[in-house]
Amino acid sequence: MLHSGGKRLTKQRQLALDVLQESAEHLDAEAVYARAKARDPKISIATIYRTLALLKEAGLVEENRLGEEHAHFEATRSTPHYHFTCLRCGRVIEFDTPQVQEAIQSFCTREKIQLVSVQLLLSGYCALCRREEE
Ligand SMILES: [Zn+2]
Ligand SMILES: [Zn+2]
Repeated sequence: MLHSGGKRLTKQRQLALDVLQESAEHLDAEAVYARAKARDPKISIATIYRTLALLKEAGLVEENRLGEEHAHFEATRSTPHYHFTCLRCGRVIEFDTPQVQEAIQSFCTREKIQLVSVQLLLSGYCALCRREEE
C-alpha cells in the first residue's frame, strides 16, 4: 500500500468510513459505493470492496450477514450489539444488552477460550409484518 496509490487509498478509506459513520443503517457494499460516489465520482466499486476489507481488517468496520447472501457493513462501535432481521420486510433491529456480553465472557473464561468474533443473528417477523399477516 506504500506504492504511488497509497495516498489516494487513504483518502478513499476515510470516505468509506465517513459514509458508514454517518449512516444509521446497515449498508451493503453497493450502498456504500453509491454514497461514496456522490462525493468522489472517480471511486469504483472495486475500490469500495477493497477498502471495506481493509477497514474490517483494521477493526474499524464490522461485517454482518443479516440473513442475506450479501454482507452489510457498519462502523465499529464501542459497545457490541446484535441484530434481528425481519424475513419479510428485511428490517434490521439492533439490540444490545449487557447480559449477552456477560454470558459470552463467562463462557469464554470457563472454557479458556480466546474470543475472536461473535456472530449472533436473530431472524423472524417484525411487529409490523405480523400485524399485516393477521
Ligand atoms: Zn417486517
Ligand atoms: Zn448493527
